[in-house]
This record gives sequence, structure tokens and C-alpha cells, in this order.
Amino acid sequence: MSFDSLGLSADILRAVAEQGYREPTPVQRQAIPVVLAGRDLLASAQTGTGKTAGFTLPLLQRLSTSPVAAKGRRPVRALILTPTRELAAQVGENVRDYSKYLNLRSLVVFGGVSINPQMMKLRGGVDILVATPGRLLDLVHQNAVDLSQVEILVLDEADRMLDMGFIHDIRRVLAKLPPKRQNLLFSATFSDEIKTLAEKLLHNPESVEVARRNTASEQVSQHVHLVDKKRKRELLSYLIGRDNWQQVLVFTRTKHGANHLAEQLGKDGITAAAIHGNKSQGARTRALADFKSGGIRVLVATDIAARGLDIEELPHVVNYELPNVPEDYVHRIGRTGRAAATGAALSLVCVDEHKLLRDIERLLKREIPRMAIAGYEPDPSIRAEPIQNGRQQPSRGRGAGNGQGRPQGDRRAAPRQHSGYAGDNARSRRPAAKKQGIA
Ligand code: AMP
Repeated sequence: MSFDSLGLSADILRAVAEQGYREPTPVQRQAIPVVLAGRDLLASAQTGTGKTAGFTLPLLQRLSTSPVAAKGRRPVRALILTPTRELAAQVGENVRDYSKYLNLRSLVVFGGVSINPQMMKLRGGVDILVATPGRLLDLVHQNAVDLSQVEILVLDEADRMLDMGFIHDIRRVLAKLPPKRQNLLFSATFSDEIKTLAEKLLHNPESVEVARRNTASEQVSQHVHLVDKKRKRELLSYLIGRDNWQQVLVFTRTKHGANHLAEQLGKDGITAAAIHGNKSQGARTRALADFKSGGIRVLVATDIAARGLDIEELPHVVNYELPNVPEDYVHRIGRTGRAAATGAALSLVCVDEHKLLRDIERLLKREIPRMAIAGYEPDPSIRAEPIQNGRQQPSRGRGAGNGQGRPQGDRRAAPRQHSGYAGDNARSRRPAAKKQGIA
């Protein structure tokens, strides 16, 4: 099947052809006709499936062929909400690429960067707005954006938005939208919370489901190396050198851990950079670009920072520390083995993490094979200790960090309070009163 038969205009098809896409992916084949028909959509698809074009192409088609209702400044007609800055930037880039030959203006807004240029650009009139929820609300409160003319709403990675505590922000945004509009909800997983949101948001939706990637892709080989905590870095450097890995995404639980590891790898002569919520947007974008171009071999990331990163066919993912939330393991290893490529995911597991490993294996419903590396066998005399910065039950009074503090710099995002995410440091925790104030 080619793109031509989907009912997209020649200008959109030209832009798609320039991207080198030859045929639509399964989610695109299914979603595009539904969106073009003006229906609400509930789509189960993760990053890597081509979901962005799945909603963007028909959205552009609809906007470019239907007249603008109001005269004067262009109103925002399509609103795309994403959980993270990285994802917003990537979606915005795609929107720009695909709308290259159309007379439509798009803008990306997210927190962590100055709000003024965003306000200026909005003043000029924008048809398609890609936004993270917190910054969007800031702009709404400053009367910099009017959402009353929105015709199409997209919630991208809705599950992650809820995980990151954006539900109240989403509700606030919804209250600013006109009741009559088209709604598209994309999510990798379908918890009860997502189902409740979908029921409220969507009217008579069409459902689209593509092969779930979070069932731990068969294309990914998974292994566990049992090793003492103190020797993890040494083992990682050894493996990178021994097998000559050129592009490795490494996960740590905390921002501090990511920084520290990147520094240590540098001392071992392995080029590495850390990417996490405390890094400036510029630093993150640079690190990602360097990683993609082969300028650095190792990108050390925390879970939320890595979410939405568009890195294709990544050969190696390393869990330097296991995540506290078993589902994050699945998200992490979903970064490899994309498309036709196969990938390897390995986990360096110390005695403190055995319970986390068991939880992950329970979720996967299978055991991850252990592989011994001669010379790195764990010392059996070392006893398990509680994991610092991570295992404390969040106390209601203090509020819990989610390992990222404020997600991606969005001020209003209050992390969902569950014990899963590692608190990074005390400073990243926000007073409960403030959080409750926004609830
Ligand atoms: P997404 O799931 O939207 O993040 O897309 C993942 C990657 O697939 C992006 O790099 C897109 O540029 C690419 N992509 C999207 N659609 C197609 C297609 N039909 N053919 C080839 N690549 C595609």
C-alpha cells in the first residue's frame, strides 16, 4: 500500500516522499482514514511506530482543506499535547517537515526556556500548537494564547502524561477548549486511569491498535549480569571496550547518578554525556545530536529524559541500575530493536536490586537469562542494602519526587505519588502544599 491511496493532498505527499517514507506504517494505515473522516480516535501505539505522522498528516490535510472560521489573527486550530520537551520538539519538527508545502504555521512551546519569544510568536498567529501542559497553561494564564477555536486535540503519550502527574493540567486545558472538536488519544498502555480519561474525552471513538511494543519486543535479546555495585562502572567500560560498542544508551535511576557515570566513563576514555531533567534544553539537544552523529558513544539518561527520544535502531541499551517501576524496564528496552534491527538490552544487577529484578520478571512473565562475566562475579559476602534515593515510600506530607523533580521543567507538573520512582535529591522535591494547590 502506498501513501497515495490514503486521500492526502499532493503537497502533503510531496513532503512525505521527501522524508524518504515509501509506504505507511500499520498505525498510519489505520489512523489516517479515521482522522480524515473527522472521527475521534483511541490509538495504542508507542514511539517508533510512526504514530506522529499517523496523526499529523491527516490533521494537516483537514486544516489545509477547511477554511478558517474567524477573520484576523490565525487562531490555534490544532493542539498537540506531549508529556516531555523532547517529544514536543520532535513532534514539532515532524509537523514542520510535513507541512512544508502548506500554508500553515506551527509552533512548539515548552517549559525551561524563556516564555517571551513564545508569546511573541503566538501573537503572530499559529495554526498548530505543540505544547507541554505546564507551559501551555502559563501561556493561557497570561492571555498569550486563545484555545477557543481548537478543532483538533491530540494527546500524545497520554499514559506518560498521567504518570508524570499532568492529569489536572490536562483537565484545565480541556476546560479552555470548545466542546465541539475532534479528539485523538495516543497511548502505549491502557491503565484504568487512561480508560477513564478516554471515556470522558472521546466521543464514539474508533480504536486502532498496533503491535504493542511494551510486551518486550522479541527482537531484543535481554541479559542480566550480576555484579557488585562498586564494580558496575568497571564492568560497563570493559564490555563497551571488549565488544566495541559504538552507540549505547545507559539508564540510571537518578540525575546525579547519570552525571557521575558520564564523568567516570569519560575518565575511562569513553565519550559520554548525561541527559536528564536538570540539564538545559540546549545541553540536552546537543547531547542527543552528538550521540546520534556518533560524536559520543554513550548517552546516560534517566527514565523520563529518555522518554520520547527518537533514536532509531539503537543497538545497545544498558540498565546500569534497574528502574524502581517494572514498566520502566519495558520502556527502556523498547529503545532498542526497533524496526528491522535487533538489539541487546543488558542489566547490571547488584545484590540490592534482586527484588526489583524479580518484579520485572514477574511483569515480563519470564526469567531474564543471567550471564556470568569472568572476573566480575559478585562477592557473596556482600549483603543487600536499601537503595538510596529510591526506595523510600513517599510521605504524603512531603510530596514525592519522581526522580526527575519537575518533569521536563513544567512548573505545574506534580508527579503522581507512588512509591515507584526514585526521588533524586531532596531539593527536587516540591512542597506538598504547592502541589495540592494545583490539584
Ligand atoms: P514516531 O513513532 O512517530 O516517533 O516515528 C518513528 C520514526 O519513524 C521517525 O523517525 C519517523 O520519521 C519515521 N517514520 C514515520 N513514518 C514512516 C514511514 N511511513 N516510513 C518510514 N519511516 C517512517
